Amino acid sequence: MDETYKSGYIAIVGSPNVGKSTLLNRILGQKIAIVTPKPQTTRNRILGILSRNHFQMLFLDTPGIFQPGYRLQKIMVQTATRALREADVVLLMTEGSRQPGPDEEMILGLLSRTETPAVLAINKSDVVADKRTLLPLIETYSRRHPFREVVPISALTGDGIEDLLKVLAKHLPEGPQYYPQETITEAPERFIAAEIVREKVFLQTGEEIPYAVAVKVDEYKDRDHLLYIKATVYVERDSQKAILIGGKGRKLKQIGQLARQELEASTGRKVFLDLWVKVRRKWRQKDQDLRFLGYPSRR
Ligand code: GDP
Ligand code: MG
Repeated sequence: MDETYKSGYIAIVGSPNVGKSTLLNRILGQKIAIVTPKPQTTRNRILGILSRNHFQMLFLDTPGIFQPGYRLQKIMVQTATRALREADVVLLMTEGSRQPGPDEEMILGLLSRTETPAVLAINKSDVVADKRTLLPLIETYSRRHPFREVVPISALTGDGIEDLLKVLAKHLPEGPQYYPQETITEAPERFIAAEIVREKVFLQTGEEIPYAVAVKVDEYKDRDHLLYIKATVYVERDSQKAILIGGKGRKLKQIGQLARQELEASTGRKVFLDLWVKVRRKWRQKDQDLRFLGYPSRR
């Protein structure tokens, strides 16, 4: 091993649902990015910092790259492509059962316009019985782009993660330690709290509801020995509000309970979660609403 200190941004990019956020959490050994079985869970760029003796890796978890429809999706894809362009190393993620499709074509197109070293991680190796079955996929990708290395991993079990880190460290540029050793993320507590609520909404509702939901934390403060968090769940229509609240308020209560439990576990404090639901018509289409809800457009 050489002894120079290395540091830089590593953008984790890929199609929705391949396991980017799961990988970030696994690498950090802590949950900072929400994960659900539904695609398009991640909407913002999330910084996760891994510090070891000889390097500091600044991972950027990103929304998936796909063909966007409405304005929020366009902002999500912009966020991801910008992270890709600004990174020192690109980590493209896919999964063994996925053939490259239009999303991957978009990403490969973006990669071909950069000089940035790229590493391919093929995730979900835990569901691949025989890793040799990945060879045709590896060949397909290698023909399309000069990936520095291809690493099969399982973000879920941790298999292959240390190998992946070694590969990434090799391609990281020399650089200073940007953040204190113990810093894991820059995301404010309020943002993480809002994300935890949104994760529970994703997990507890179906159809279009998760995609019509945004969460904003209005208050986050100490109050009589506990942490008081007031959050508003925004939806686009009255009918969605009714579903989210549920008969006798049961659905919202369930979401609130699950979110509170996780907030208590992650903050180590007793939490009072005061949850409200409001309608903001077509917020996913309006720049002003998108900014208000924490999704500023970027170019
Ligand atoms: P993202 O959209 O790329 O950030 O994907 P997520 O991290 O949100 O994961 C999407 C789904 O894939 C979730 O249900 C994860 O539990 C699952 N998942 C992620 N990594 C793995 C893995 O290595 N193996 C398996 N079996 N499932 C995984
Ligand atoms: Mg994600």
